[in-house]
Amino acid sequence: MEKALQLLQNYFGYSSFKKGQEDLISHILKGEDCVGIMPTGAGKSICYQIPALVFSGVTIVISPLISLMKNQVDALNELGISATYINSSLNNHDYIQTIENAVLGMYKIIYVAPERFESDSFLRFLNSIDISMIAIDEAHCVSRWGHDFRPSYLEIANVISNLSIKPVVSAFTATATDIVKKDIINLLNIKNPFTLTTGFDRENLSFHVISTNDRKKFVYSYVRNHLNSCGIIYCLTRKTVDSLYDDFLEIGYPVSKYHAGMSDVERTKNQNDFVYDRTNVMIATNAFGMGIDKSNIRYVIHYNMPKDLESYYQEAGRAGRDGIYAECTLLFSRQDIVTNKFIIEQCSSNSYHKIEYQKLNDMIDYCNTDKCLRKYILEYFGETPSFSECNNCSNCNSELEETDITEDSKKILSCIKRMNERFGVNLVTDVLKGSHSSKVIQLGFDKLSTYALLKDYSKETIKELISFLVSQGYINSIGEKYPILVLTNKANNVLFENEGVLIKRKVEKLKHSQNVISTYDDELFELLRKLRKEIAQKSNVPPFVIFTDATLSSMCINFPTTKEEMLKISGVGETKFQKYGELFIEVIQNYLNSSRISL
Ligand code: ADP
Ligand code: MG
Repeated sequence: MEKALQLLQNYFGYSSFKKGQEDLISHILKGEDCVGIMPTGAGKSICYQIPALVFSGVTIVISPLISLMKNQVDALNELGISATYINSSLNNHDYIQTIENAVLGMYKIIYVAPERFESDSFLRFLNSIDISMIAIDEAHCVSRWGHDFRPSYLEIANVISNLSIKPVVSAFTATATDIVKKDIINLLNIKNPFTLTTGFDRENLSFHVISTNDRKKFVYSYVRNHLNSCGIIYCLTRKTVDSLYDDFLEIGYPVSKYHAGMSDVERTKNQNDFVYDRTNVMIATNAFGMGIDKSNIRYVIHYNMPKDLESYYQEAGRAGRDGIYAECTLLFSRQDIVTNKFIIEQCSSNSYHKIEYQKLNDMIDYCNTDKCLRKYILEYFGETPSFSECNNCSNCNSELEETDITEDSKKILSCIKRMNERFGVNLVTDVLKGSHSSKVIQLGFDKLSTYALLKDYSKETIKELISFLVSQGYINSIGEKYPILVLTNKANNVLFENEGVLIKRKVEKLKHSQNVISTYDDELFELLRKLRKEIAQKSNVPPFVIFTDATLSSMCINFPTTKEEMLKISGVGETKFQKYGELFIEVIQNYLNSSRISL
């Protein structure tokens, strides 16, 4: 382990391991097979990269996506580690060259696409080199229950069993459901592995839910306030992506978009523009993101509520891989419930509907809860958090203002009663609003004493009040596809016993969540960002591969101006220092001179 720690410092420039890394690495070094389940950004790559450097032979890393392999190999080469990849992006000549180099022992780490494992010639190649370990990244791809199932992952076990010398096998994923974990172990045919699961919590992420009917206004102003940061805006449909993208272009913001309806060429170009910091904003459907290792994503906005918390946490979790502050904001509007129900009805077979509706309800509860959002998420995934408030989400950082809505509630409840508790939220809203729709007239609801009682409110507001009364147990919403509203006993207390109804509304506290970035020297940060981008462009790698935001921000706190000071910065190792250290020192020194900051 001493050697491992030394490698961590010298190559990666980190002085200590993150949670779980040390444990996994020490078991791997003992020759044990391992399964590591750790959330995004936990540092799973280092768990196999460090052993790869300690072992005498080659480590094969199986990775699902070409872009992901390229970034990882670029990053390793930047660190001075000899690595390469073998996938369908190589032409025949490069493929043969790579294989020859590998046989000559020129690489410590080789990334390989799972599809290669289907060919016999590749097995012969593997048997001709000295393999110490096979590491399977994104190992949930092996399981039908993992969200990115890839059939060729099923070949891996077979190939491993046909190797003349059995290597160490290690598998890594962020997907922690028990069924996926068991599948990984079974399908990879790993016997008695050391298994490590770290918690699900991502402390640097700040979660926000905002109920709004004007999402556009919100995202415009958010993006304007974060012009120098990279972020993703997730939309539920391709149509929304296209229209939001056009709107942004119209007001002159450089943005990229990504969805399954675009051509491969266009998608790859847009993804690269975003990964290489040529555009700061990516507007996309959930088709975007798998295999994006970009560590400097500072925010993820969900323009629409996704279908379940699994999707939400996976997508939001793409923010802040580098471990520093990032914001995850979900914009909630009731229309999203309707769209999601439509998608459930359209896209899956009946046998899944019940589960999907249940998951959707949990997602809606997340949007409506006034408790700690982080705690809600962690409990959803089966953890028992040690805190009751994280003090870093929109609920913990808001104060609740109480408003008496007894009168409005009475109007709503008696309207439901007069409509004989046989209709859903839309018709009840229409009646309260005083709509002249043919259905209202046909059923004679315009003659009810409760007709148009809330005509001064928008339909949206009326629906929100109804949904509040549902969430507080005054009304039951019964049925899945077209639920009807039915009064509960609690409603009778309001109608006949003079019981009052209070609604709590969130008011953002003046105190903002602890925004770690604001404690840096912003001006210097921008200068270093610029330098990083110039260097990255010359070497044709994404900027975060040169240095992460975390490393730059640490420079903006410590102002290193000597080699010694620079090597103390997390993320600056020997090789990186030799390549770029002086360039960064120069900018920092000039900045200190010009702004007369004395340390
Ligand atoms: P994962 O694959 O688990 O999502 P990565 O391997 O991509 O995570 O690592 C996420 C980030 O954490 C990277 O920027 C990486 O350099 C950084 N990192 C990994 N290990 C350490 C460590 N011991 N100290 C500081 N940063 C680390
Ligand atoms: Mg990873």
